[in-house]
Amino acid sequence: MPPLTHALARGAFFPRRARHGRLSAALSHRFISTGLEELDASSEEDIMRKSISAIAMTAAAIAVPAMAFAYPTQPITIVVPFSAGGPTDTVTRLVAQSMSAELGQNIVVENVGGAGGTLGAARVAQARNDGYTLLLHHIGMSTAPSLYPNLPFDPTTDFEYVGLVTEVPMVIAARPSLEHETLADVIAWVQAEGEGVLYANAGMGAASHLCGLLFMEAIGTQMTVIPYQGTGPAITDLMGGQVDLLCDQTTNTTNQIRDGSIKAYAVTVPDRLDSLPDLPTPAEAGLPDFSVSIWHGLYAPSGTSPEIVARLTEALQIALADENVIARFADLGTAPSPASDATPEALQAKVVSEIALWGPVIEAAGEFAN
Ligand code: ASP
Repeated sequence: MPPLTHALARGAFFPRRARHGRLSAALSHRFISTGLEELDASSEEDIMRKSISAIAMTAAAIAVPAMAFAYPTQPITIVVPFSAGGPTDTVTRLVAQSMSAELGQNIVVENVGGAGGTLGAARVAQARNDGYTLLLHHIGMSTAPSLYPNLPFDPTTDFEYVGLVTEVPMVIAARPSLEHETLADVIAWVQAEGEGVLYANAGMGAASHLCGLLFMEAIGTQMTVIPYQGTGPAITDLMGGQVDLLCDQTTNTTNQIRDGSIKAYAVTVPDRLDSLPDLPTPAEAGLPDFSVSIWHGLYAPSGTSPEIVARLTEALQIALADENVIARFADLGTAPSPASDATPEALQAKVVSEIALWGPVIEAAGEFAN
């Protein structure tokens, strides 16, 4: 505690009784407003001393809340619950760079992959709620409760919500050596090969898991699933031909599709994308009811102070309005969430409504983690 605040806390500046007179009247008025009515000054010098004390105390009284909210004073860590180089990592690093400039502190991105994003989320749920450990997670926050019977955190009670960050389309992609040219051909091939086809994902609850689940449901065929700690390493294996198919966010596939290091057959949203205009929509490609896009949100551990959460929301909104962030997102087929969605209320509503939305889908698929 700073010395002045410490002294105040011990009552060191509280005089006993004020004498009458202009200065003491002024002092007593000031002290009345701060709850101290009884002053007793025995000399002008005493009054002067008390005057200085009073000014110091008033200044301290004003300064205390500001000092209590000196945030951030050290680097902030944002946990990404997937491997480096993947889409959640890419989104986080773009936003963190701009938030860091706004907050005047470094932001360190820490990748804690595994178990479809639940290990990283659990880490943040248990972290100190001092505003220095945050989580940037995606839709997996709302699917995990249905998939993991022993989930070590509760997305509805163990976090403070900072705001939505972005919603990202996905693409259905394949190794570059796959000979098929259309999604219809790929579907016929998967139906013929079944579990001979290797589908990569980032673990149960990952976006790639959900997209694969919906795809397999839609075509009525199971593939063999190869889980990774994130789709960063999964896409490396897709480029190398170690796995056959992957459904992943455009934030991790756009450049690879453009340079031909992977093949892509369709987007997973109802409209074509400006960034990848040649890719058909699911309806155009023969899967009319197929639709999935992946929202991302920023969280702090529960109990983080409202002032810190408000400051983080403000910094997030400024980052999402940053022209550089908007341009980078657009190039990767997405857009930052509008300020009206980059709020605690909007993220909380999203988490809760998506838990309800995905529960029955996952139940119907009958797929659960151990
Ligand atoms: N795209 C991954 C997923 O399937 C996550 C990641 O690596 O960011 O959820």
